[in-house]
Amino acid sequence: MKRIAILGCTGSIGQQTLDVVQGFADEFCVTGLAAGSNARLLIEQADVFGPEALWLKDETDAERTRALLKSSTRPTSQVLYGGDSLERFFELSAPDIVVSAISGKAGLYPTYMALSAGLDVALANKESLVMGGQLLKRLARSNGANITPIDSEHSAIAQCLVGERMESINKLILTASGGPFRGDSIDRLAHRTFDEAQKHPVWSMGEKINVDSATLMNKGFEVIEACVLFDQPPEKVEVLVHPECIVHSMVEFVDGSIKAQLGVPDMRLPILYALSVPRRLGRPEKSASLDDLRSLRFERVDMERFRCLHLAYEAAEVGGSMPAVVCVADEVAIQHFKAGRVGFLDIAEIIERTMAQHEIVPIDSIERLLSVTQSAEKIAESQALGVIDEI
Ligand code: NAD
Ligand code: MG
Repeated sequence: MKRIAILGCTGSIGQQTLDVVQGFADEFCVTGLAAGSNARLLIEQADVFGPEALWLKDETDAERTRALLKSSTRPTSQVLYGGDSLERFFELSAPDIVVSAISGKAGLYPTYMALSAGLDVALANKESLVMGGQLLKRLARSNGANITPIDSEHSAIAQCLVGERMESINKLILTASGGPFRGDSIDRLAHRTFDEAQKHPVWSMGEKINVDSATLMNKGFEVIEACVLFDQPPEKVEVLVHPECIVHSMVEFVDGSIKAQLGVPDMRLPILYALSVPRRLGRPEKSASLDDLRSLRFERVDMERFRCLHLAYEAAEVGGSMPAVVCVADEVAIQHFKAGRVGFLDIAEIIERTMAQHEIVPIDSIERLLSVTQSAEKIAESQALGVIDEI
């Protein structure tokens, strides 16, 4: 029985992970659940799965959870809160694997703490690898922990690489749905709203990644994530828009052969793979019926319209603290976009202006990384105010 702790259990990936666990009750059990603030849902989940430990971001929600827990059917879970108690959370839940599925930069520290404890991580929170990729990889290596991707593209690449040598890779080809605004002109993009960005054509996901998919920053983050996970330079990671979302990504080898991984667009598939690799467990759900597909299209991305992807490549090339700065600036810009203070195209503008103000430093410790993110947040906020003033 594999013991699983889930960081971000109340979110889209968190809930789909619980769904997977429920489907394989004789393979997996949930020993720790951690959420930002949704105490009510957390208690419902605890009632079903009976974990040893619960964790929330802050005290108020932890108190609420403790109160709700008294009337629950399984009142035995310990309730912890705050960054300082993450170590204890991992001790109590003693997981074999931690699913890292908090959204945004808030996922960095908990992921760092899981790897510090020498725990294997199934990683959905791509932002932590974008911000501190080499740092986290070094930490994992020195503590004997594995990082297994949940992101469907990276899961696909990892599956294509089974049995291959790294020196045989010519390039990695990440596929992208193109997001909800794929065919839009620049003028149309300028008037797109936060609510429209939430209507992804294929995937059902959390708020922030929906916007990142619309700007294609999500793909930019995935380029950086792929560089880190598979030790490739950014010029060896290509992006192709593939609206059908059936080919999840590909690897081209030096002999010109290309391997792809295909399947229905359902995150429960890469989640299950990350939890069970090297085994494959049988799922009753339908597989992709290829005969229903008229065609599979692959197109290049227009980086003029989707500037965020260009900025992510730029950050990947310069390296150091720049990817972390892009990540933080993106989150700040999305908050202003959500509040209706800036337009869709201003997201890239705010990120670009923040990048221009940043002096790159090497990321050699978590303290350094956290201080970079704090100063980047301040710069991004002031750049956002500048953009708002100009509107
Ligand atoms: P979501 O918004 O649905 O869920 C986020 C989870 O994080 C919630 O449980 C929330 O309570 C928790 N959280 C938020 N802020 C927190 C904080 N400060 N401290 C602790 N917990 C906090 O997000 P999601 O769509 O599930 O995405 C999670 C991660 O997985 C993201 O990094 C995203 O890029 C990645 N991802 C998601 C998908 C998908 O299909 N949803 C696919 C690939 C990768
Ligand atoms: Mg993805």
